[in-house]
Amino acid sequence: METVRFAPSPTGLLHLGHAFSAVFADQAREGGRFLLRIEDIERDRVRAEYVDAIFEDLTWLGLRWEEPVAFQSSRLDTYEAALKILIDEGHVYRCFCSRKQIAEHNQSIASAPHGPIPHYPGTCRELDPEQAAKRAALGEEFAWRLDIKRSLDLLGSVTWHDRRRGVQQVVRVSDPILARRDIGTSYHLSSVVDDADQGVTLVTRGSDLFESTHVHRLIQGLLGLPNPEYYHHPLVGDTSGQRLSKRDKSISLRSLRASGMSPAAVLLSAGACLIDGT
Ligand code: GLU
Repeated sequence: METVRFAPSPTGLLHLGHAFSAVFADQAREGGRFLLRIEDIERDRVRAEYVDAIFEDLTWLGLRWEEPVAFQSSRLDTYEAALKILIDEGHVYRCFCSRKQIAEHNQSIASAPHGPIPHYPGTCRELDPEQAAKRAALGEEFAWRLDIKRSLDLLGSVTWHDRRRGVQQVVRVSDPILARRDIGTSYHLSSVVDDADQGVTLVTRGSDLFESTHVHRLIQGLLGLPNPEYYHHPLVGDTSGQRLSKRDKSISLRSLRASGMSPAAVLLSAGACLIDGT
């Protein structure tokens, strides 16, 4: 028996890929608990109508979740408290770089790696913390980044287990933002804290988030949180084998339902569109 969760962001309508992911989680619980978490920290992109659509679409698919539903927007204090621990222990540093500066730097190097964790050249990692604090006190905006190298040095060899790909050694990825300047938290920090607080034992999600799990495992280690099992499932593609995105309105669950498709047919077609190698 597992405690699993489905954790959509209400920034668009759910599509075939979400249907697959939600049902995948539900089946993976093996008689355990199925939780629904609304990841609504990005205030500028979230819309209430998308939250309603999530409830409606998941109900239509036949899913039932435990009440109450968790909303990340109501847990900002909890994320702030976790961030404070990381700040006090020196695991994160202030980053004053703008997106534009980072993009320009990445363009200047031929092979900046692409992936879910944007490449960061480490510009602010070496700043003197006192100097950085002074700049912040003078009103300069900053985000908090996790110092991956320091975390790895501190925690030593860290692993996690993916049910599809086996034991994974945490590798050095780019230093990710843990607290954005506008929202004071991030997907990484919030989801790790929530998975622990909600007692999630098996994290199921698309393989596009595989690399993020290295970061999540380090945050767990630094905060002394339990280490759940993972299952990164293959992604659902469109007819040309490309990943679906929320912008592809044509394959939203809402439009498939309106076209008369049954939930079973939706799930069959999602299963038939899995992209090889993801
Ligand atoms: N909110 C994330 C998304 O919609 C899901 C993250 C997760 O399952 O860890 O992509």
